[in-house]
Amino acid sequence: MESFTSLREIQDNLKSGAITCSQVVASCLKIIDQESNLNAFLEVYSKEAIEKASLVDHKISAGTAGRLAGLVVGLKDMLCYQDHTLQAGSKILEGFESQFTGTAVQRLLDEDVIIIGRQNCDEFGMGSSNENSAYGPVHNGIDPQKVSGGSSGGSAVAVQRGMCHASLGSDTGGSVRQPAAFTGIIGLKPTYSRISRYGLVAYASSFDSIGILTKNIEDNALILEVIAGLDEYDSTVSRTPVTSYSSFDRHSPAKIGFIKDSLENEGVQKEVRDRTQLQLEHLKELGHQVEAVDFPLMDYILPTYYLLTTAEASSNLSRYDGVKYGYRSNEQDSLEAFYKHTRSEGFGKEVQKRIMLGTFVLSASYYDAYYTKAQKVRKLIKEKTSELFDQFDFLVMPTSPTTAFELGRFSDSPLEMYWSDLFTVQASVSGNPAISIPNGTDKNGLPIGFQIIAADFNEKGLYALSNDILKGRDN
Ligand code: GLN
Repeated sequence: MESFTSLREIQDNLKSGAITCSQVVASCLKIIDQESNLNAFLEVYSKEAIEKASLVDHKISAGTAGRLAGLVVGLKDMLCYQDHTLQAGSKILEGFESQFTGTAVQRLLDEDVIIIGRQNCDEFGMGSSNENSAYGPVHNGIDPQKVSGGSSGGSAVAVQRGMCHASLGSDTGGSVRQPAAFTGIIGLKPTYSRISRYGLVAYASSFDSIGILTKNIEDNALILEVIAGLDEYDSTVSRTPVTSYSSFDRHSPAKIGFIKDSLENEGVQKEVRDRTQLQLEHLKELGHQVEAVDFPLMDYILPTYYLLTTAEASSNLSRYDGVKYGYRSNEQDSLEAFYKHTRSEGFGKEVQKRIMLGTFVLSASYYDAYYTKAQKVRKLIKEKTSELFDQFDFLVMPTSPTTAFELGRFSDSPLEMYWSDLFTVQASVSGNPAISIPNGTDKNGLPIGFQIIAADFNEKGLYALSNDILKGRDN
């Protein structure tokens, strides 16, 4: 079957009877099977998906199908889907099944998407390469020797290769945007509190956000429109009205700031720098005003992010003690020994390291020196970022300093791995919405991502500008 570029195209074909939903699902399942070596899926819901497709076909004939009928979606292994296994890429949740469906997933189901499977990811969303999954790394579809990016690596590769049309991932510090950049697709992290977190496994709750991975802007916007907004199960969701994101127009001439350090920084790969420079020229050609801007707090963003997220993670992950969920150790000497063994055997190395770091950050003697201080710096970063939006409509920079790297490259140097989050963590610390769109490739054909950040709740602006850039390129 020919491959389609957007949901609109799929729906036109479904409506005219040129294809059926069952055929669409069959073609996704075939690709999943052919590309199983990439390790993008931990579980494929073949039987269910086929059954749902035939149901959607009936609904289409009856004229009762939902807005997303025909869309095949994959879920990062961080999202609850009732009666389906959920492991957060971890051994500690072995055998665990969700007892309810999260809000975002439910809203998709209500509009007749077909959920095709559960996607591999870094354990509890902690990682930038998908090498921290207890179920093996995900390989990049362009070059299987290269990482997919992380932590939503399986979700990105699945969309990249056409195993599904869209994935829901989670983005705490870049986990949707960075793998989207590494695989050449689109990844949105909306404003913090735009989408309910009910049914999303918690990593660092004041940063966590469900994100959307697609091949085109229109589908991304439509999905956001369906899943965003108030939810009685998550009181932190914003009351800001959900606008019709998918009805974006061309963006009127905008004032765009590019963070100088993101181009001057010597850790940025030359091709990434050159492509970003070209994109800035392109933005000018499109009629936008582009200006360099300093962000003096740049050096503090990554440490602030890692101090606060590990602190929150140490608290969030304390619930995995072998009593309530999944894996339990055979150790029976004492309750304390049982906890210790369960957690040492169930959690992977990176997660253990972060729990320990976070516990240290929150310990009575160091709380003020690290946690309180990092909170103050976060406030400053938020304020300074928000001040920039008094001057600019958008901030832009590369999504990641490099393209996808070799598997295993940073196994012995975790700090260098953290470096790949350099440009994505700003919008996570500040809570602003940000998107990664494709921006050409390096000499090995590996995709480069271009990141656009907007003022809070201006996702529609992000979509409009992204669409102009991508359309402009096609013409
Ligand atoms: N790579 C970052 C981390 O390891 C981001 C992860 C994420 O966004 N979930 O924390």
